[in-house]
Amino acid sequence: MNLELSEEQAAVRQLAKDFVGREVTPHVVEWDRAESVDRGIVRKLGAVGFLGLTIPEEYGGSGGDHLSYCLVTEELGRGDSSVRGIVSVSLGLVAKTVAHWGDEEQKRRWLPGLTSGDLIGCFGLTEPGTGSDAGNLTTRAVREGGGDYVINGAKMFITNGTWADVVLVFARSTDAPGHKGVSAFLVPTDTPGLSRRPIHGKLGLRGQATAELTFEDVRVPASAMLGREGKGFSVAMSALAKGRMSVAAGCVGIAQAALDSALRYAGEREQFGKSIAQHQLIQELITDISVDVDAARLLTWRVADLIDRGEPFVTESSKAKLFASEAAVRAANNALQVFGGYGYIDEYPAGKLLRDARVMTLYEGTSQIQKLVIGRALTGVSAF
Ligand code: FAD
Repeated sequence: MNLELSEEQAAVRQLAKDFVGREVTPHVVEWDRAESVDRGIVRKLGAVGFLGLTIPEEYGGSGGDHLSYCLVTEELGRGDSSVRGIVSVSLGLVAKTVAHWGDEEQKRRWLPGLTSGDLIGCFGLTEPGTGSDAGNLTTRAVREGGGDYVINGAKMFITNGTWADVVLVFARSTDAPGHKGVSAFLVPTDTPGLSRRPIHGKLGLRGQATAELTFEDVRVPASAMLGREGKGFSVAMSALAKGRMSVAAGCVGIAQAALDSALRYAGEREQFGKSIAQHQLIQELITDISVDVDAARLLTWRVADLIDRGEPFVTESSKAKLFASEAAVRAANNALQVFGGYGYIDEYPAGKLLRDARVMTLYEGTSQIQKLVIGRALTGVSAF
């Protein structure tokens, strides 16, 4: 793995740093308190090309490799995880999945809008009764006389849910047991019968539009199916395998923000007649954050490198997500300790970093699920 960035990669990283400094950082506290980022950020993300990374230009994408995608995701995560999540889901879980699995008509219909930010996508896998055990989901898609599918069911905790124009939803369309009966559908969110309820009161990611979706006799044509009938779980798992790299990159950004802010504060704050940076136990906290940043970044870049070289990456993606998410929580918690009591109020960044980091060990597969995925790869025995 070459650790030196190419000129293009260095340029896209700088573009992301500038974008975050200009469009995100000044608003972070306000958006967090308001429980919503400014929706206008989506078109700005599209205009600068961040919603089209890795998508071919013929479909409106901005091309680029997966390391560039990671660099941008890290910078967005450093700025605001709520903004980062919009990209990780609309691009990472929806547009990239359409680009991989979609037929020509589906790509032409959805990708130009998703990559420009004119459209927003969401990913509907989790249900109120099935989270980790997603293969046993209960939403049903019943085909009527060889024509339309009619979808009934509910989806829980859906990122971008109230904002999205299209949901990539997973539903059981055959009687085959477990994940074998699941198919994927691209459903416009203005389809009659689809309703959305915002979820408020989240610990972190407060700026993000998270929702519960309900499907009541939602009718879609057979052409809405993404991939083949009964292959929906493969569609979901392939999306999540790359999605976990994106979450890991966002976690590197959180940990980097924890390091930057802790270093700055430790240099300014004085106790016992000297800066707290001169106290060895504060140096220990900062050192621990720094090692977590480096290790999480290297694991994440390895995944991007494997994808870009066409090598297997699924287990490595789980390792990166597992480590980086736990590291982000540790790093933010250590930063909060450096800030002392000031870390506990939202005028300083550490508290929000910790609140935002906490969900990273839960979504796109909890830490326990990542361990089972890695364990299965190592032993050849599935514990699922
Ligand atoms: P459960 O599956 O009920 O797990 C509860 C606990 O049991 C966890 O600790 C888990 O690790 C553990 N556990 C479960 N099974 C096992 C096992 N076999 N062995 C050991 N331990 C086990 N979902 C989407 O589809 N789309 C989204 O956009 C999306 N966005 C989200 C945004 C937020 C803010 C949140 C909080 C969640 C989001 N999710 C989304 C859902 C998320 O992926 C699920 O919450 C997650 O998969 C866990 O499912 P669960 O909450 O039902 O927990």
